[in-house]
Amino acid sequence: MKKLKGLKCVSCGHVHAIEMIYECEHCRGSLDIIYDYESIFTENVSDHISEGGIWRHRSLLPIAANTEAVSLGEGNTPLLRSTALEVEFDQAEILIKNEAVNPTLSFKDRPLAVALTVAKQFGVEGVVTASTGNTGVAAAAYAARAGLPCRIYVPKGTPKEKLIMMEMYGAKIELIEGTFSDAYLVSGQEAKKNGWFNLTSTFLNPYAIEGDKTLAYEIYEQYGGVPDWIIIPIGAGPLLVSCYKGFRELQLAGKVAKLPRMVGVQAANCAPTVQAFEKKLKEVEPWGYSNQTVASGIADPLTTYPQDGTRTLTTIYQSEGCGIAVSDESIMHYQKWLAQKEGIFAEPSSATAIAAIEVMKEKGFLQNGDSIVTVVTGHGLKDLKSIR
Ligand SMILES: [Zn+2]
Repeated sequence: MKKLKGLKCVSCGHVHAIEMIYECEHCRGSLDIIYDYESIFTENVSDHISEGGIWRHRSLLPIAANTEAVSLGEGNTPLLRSTALEVEFDQAEILIKNEAVNPTLSFKDRPLAVALTVAKQFGVEGVVTASTGNTGVAAAAYAARAGLPCRIYVPKGTPKEKLIMMEMYGAKIELIEGTFSDAYLVSGQEAKKNGWFNLTSTFLNPYAIEGDKTLAYEIYEQYGGVPDWIIIPIGAGPLLVSCYKGFRELQLAGKVAKLPRMVGVQAANCAPTVQAFEKKLKEVEPWGYSNQTVASGIADPLTTYPQDGTRTLTTIYQSEGCGIAVSDESIMHYQKWLAQKEGIFAEPSSATAIAAIEVMKEKGFLQNGDSIVTVVTGHGLKDLKSIR
């Protein structure tokens, strides 16, 4: 593919050829796809307009023009103005990007649709992933659509609803003692052993996370520009980093003049990246405490890959954004509040993006005239334990 220049290490800058690799061969840093933007922006992209959802933006994805997309109709989710939130927090403009209406009910359908399409481009025989739930569900569904076997490694506390979905889509599930970080290690070994594509959605798979950029393109189109703040729940944080990359591409294309300030939200009980932000550190350290929280989807202590948190932290600093930690009480409160005031049933991990607005107000990050887009990443039906 001419438009791809290579895989650049975010730590040492070494550029690798486009291959099925997951880390820098020199320093084990995570990889970022670099494009030949000049040729992309001068190319006539009107022939992609007929494709729906994220595929309208195919020219900025690591997919060849003639590759058939593995698609279930992902993307093109609604951006809803929330008067109730504007009144609650005395803000001029708050909008909700509702990713819960994607085919498997979370934003993960964006990266996994791209990843499975890339898997077919590479011609692999199967796919593997570690997951706290949403990635696994999306991987299972898109693997079914692609006709590839899928093996998923999940920590034991993963919500039952998500496990049922993975099973229904025909994936093979392995329950792992410990946290997501433990599942991450085992899935990596398994992928290597079989030569299967590893879809794990930290920053491990550089192709998958490109799908997350489409969130930025849609916010830009639907909002009609760039909001002041974008609030995103984060585990390792690829959605935040890729969304910002998407806006930078729009800037390179000459479509936008400013960039949004990125807010990463974590549950206070598992907040390695936010803790580093609060201490004004340059690097994230693994979360050494108990990580019990109702927000299981973002409960990632980053035990063996704190550098992934650092990549997100660096983006937060670059964008002049902030890291916000929210309590489990506040998460549960705003989950119910959002359902009853706006008719949006978000999972606890996603309700953190609402709860964060209150903390941003308290801490003085927000001016009343600021515009905010807050991202509801997944559906409440996928995690019912906390409500029971
Ligand atoms: Zn490197």
